[in-house]
Amino acid sequence: MVGTGLGAARGILIKNGDALERGKKIDIVVFDKTGTLTEGKPKVVDILTCKATMSADELLALAASVERFSEHPLGQAIVLAAREKNLPSKEVHDFVNLAGKGVRARIGDATVMVGSIRLLLEYGVPLTHNCDTIAQHEADGRTIVAVAYDHTPVGVIAVADSLKEGAKAAIERLRTERIATVMITGDNRKTAEAIAKEIGIDRVFAEVLPQDKAGQVRELQKTGQRVAFVGDGINDAPALVQADLGIAIGTGTDIAIEAGNIVLVKGHPLKVIEALRLSRLTFKTIKQNMFWAFFYNVAAIPLAALGLLNPMIAAAAMAGSSLTVVGNSLRIKRQRLS
Ligand code: ADP
Ligand code: MG
Repeated sequence: MVGTGLGAARGILIKNGDALERGKKIDIVVFDKTGTLTEGKPKVVDILTCKATMSADELLALAASVERFSEHPLGQAIVLAAREKNLPSKEVHDFVNLAGKGVRARIGDATVMVGSIRLLLEYGVPLTHNCDTIAQHEADGRTIVAVAYDHTPVGVIAVADSLKEGAKAAIERLRTERIATVMITGDNRKTAEAIAKEIGIDRVFAEVLPQDKAGQVRELQKTGQRVAFVGDGINDAPALVQADLGIAIGTGTDIAIEAGNIVLVKGHPLKVIEALRLSRLTFKTIKQNMFWAFFYNVAAIPLAALGLLNPMIAAAAMAGSSLTVVGNSLRIKRQRLS
């Protein structure tokens, strides 16, 4: 199909013609947050201890000792911060990854938990200190990673991830095209809402567990709307498949790329708009081409049947029909989509 080749030059990989068909009419675009709207390269910006006996460095070293075994970007940010300070790591055993929540392990006889405040609450460890500071970080769109040692809260680490260039502009463009926007994330509600507000997203689904993302897409589809999902992570793959159109971030995980119908090679959010426009334009062009192809035949075949058409002219009309179709398709290449 003509559009599949045309995407490549624009940094949009269209896996097959079906992908374009799926994109021709979309009512809602659902974005994953981390790695899709944000860079996905978070950095530690603040360390707050709850215990007078524990210093910020000790807290960071404790968290990093456990996060060493995690592949999550938040874990990597914590490990990097500890490494930059040359902090020693402790020996850890019984590491468990709690998807969408955090990590848990044992140091000696003590259980160490590093993750969302909600995770700690689930284990009966409510955070009691630093509440004002935590609220301020959340209002600034930072993720709070809480740390518990031996069933006692010991502190929190605030982690900031910057927005991708073009994220805000992409949401604005979708609004002008009357396409609704949703952000979905496992991150806590306040952090998610702060980020959504900054980029102007219509709705937020926060604290969504990885396995529930596809279900949220299905709920939106039940209202009869056609949903596109844009994501990068392993946990986004089921939602990418569930959506009417799955758009994967090319800089993301292989599993997401495999699951998407369209891949934005460099992961630029504005390319979402181009991909949707390319779909619509391709289908408009196909309809025009069908018209011209029929037009030539409907006009020429009766004339030929009545012996009124010189074979030379018939041959020329045949070529003319093909040229019209190809020429019309090539116009897509010159169209500005952004
Ligand atoms: P997202 O949807 O933003 O990619 P995830 O589903 O991966 O988020 O994680 C949701 C939340 O779980 C994170 O915001 C964080 O609070 C917590 N979490 C997950 N993994 C870890 C980890 N390794 N260390 C600390 N917190 C984590
Ligand atoms: Mg992500």
